[in-house]
Amino acid sequence: MSDLRDHVVLLVGGVGGAKLALGLAEVLPTGSLTIIVNTADDFEHLGLHVSPDLDTVMYTLAGLANPLTGWGVEGDTFRAIEMVGRYGGPTWFRLGDSDLGTNLLRTVMLREGHTLTEITRQLCGALGIQHPILPMTDHTVQTWLDTDQGPLAFQEYFVRERWQPVVHRIRFVGAEEARPSEAVHEALEAASLIVFGPSNPFLSIDPILALPGVREQIAASDAPCVALSPIIGGEAVKGPAAKLMAELGVDVSPVGIVTHYRDLLDGIILDRVDSELRQPIEALNVRAMAEQTLMETREDKIRLAEKILNWAEENFE
Ligand code: GDP
Repeated sequence: MSDLRDHVVLLVGGVGGAKLALGLAEVLPTGSLTIIVNTADDFEHLGLHVSPDLDTVMYTLAGLANPLTGWGVEGDTFRAIEMVGRYGGPTWFRLGDSDLGTNLLRTVMLREGHTLTEITRQLCGALGIQHPILPMTDHTVQTWLDTDQGPLAFQEYFVRERWQPVVHRIRFVGAEEARPSEAVHEALEAASLIVFGPSNPFLSIDPILALPGVREQIAASDAPCVALSPIIGGEAVKGPAAKLMAELGVDVSPVGIVTHYRDLLDGIILDRVDSELRQPIEALNVRAMAEQTLMETREDKIRLAEKILNWAEENFE
């Protein structure tokens, strides 16, 4: 019988997801973890192809991430973007100088005809990362939000407007015509356990699930699928998840997370402060474990990853 730890596939966005990615990367041997990353936040900025979630996960696993923000490179300087500002150019999206280097090379390689999957493999290899980080697709998919201020592209909503507009609807433009990459398809085929990181369900996980065939592949997989709740005690640890859930009429709790992912989930890890919600969740036929889910230190991330794997083995093997 195959072992549940043989091929763990983690779906994530950026900062929140990268924390669990680091924990699992430390716990699992090379070859046993594949990380599929949202690319619907990617956008063209100052002529560069920027992939915020891919870079956050890459910098985190390479040990380069800025520990204060969770994104960007630790100790990075901002001289290039300050120069852009002196000319009156846009500075609302803060790209550090090292970060610019990543984006310059990625953009050049895309122009040379390499795929985002190939480029990410090369960049991660150069940074010594042991586990594959896969962009969800090599096609263009872009998150748009219909808000009380009109339609906003993801980064306009998230960074420029600091997620204050009220959202009515979220669209993944291009998703229907896009395809998951071959590598993503193969990873999901081989999965022994599928984990949804504590990433924003609407903005980070849903774009991956919106790619044709992905939801179906996960639903049909023999591998159990478990999620780590991004909502702790009715609030998001960071970012707009709770605000969005309220605006979209979803219960702002792990129960809302379970109902959002519907038939895909076999289990959820929720925080101890929400442990009274285990019963209503199990009534929905989803196993629930209450744990300390706030990942502040490196040890927190490793400990939680190990707990999730042990719990999944006990419950689903
Ligand atoms: P983004 O793309 O940078 O916004 O990152 P993600 O979508 O991957 O993650 C954002 C989500 O992660 C937020 O909804 C947070 O509530 C959640 N999150 C961040 N840190 C933690 C943590 O330590 N524990 C849990 N359970 N959730 C977290």
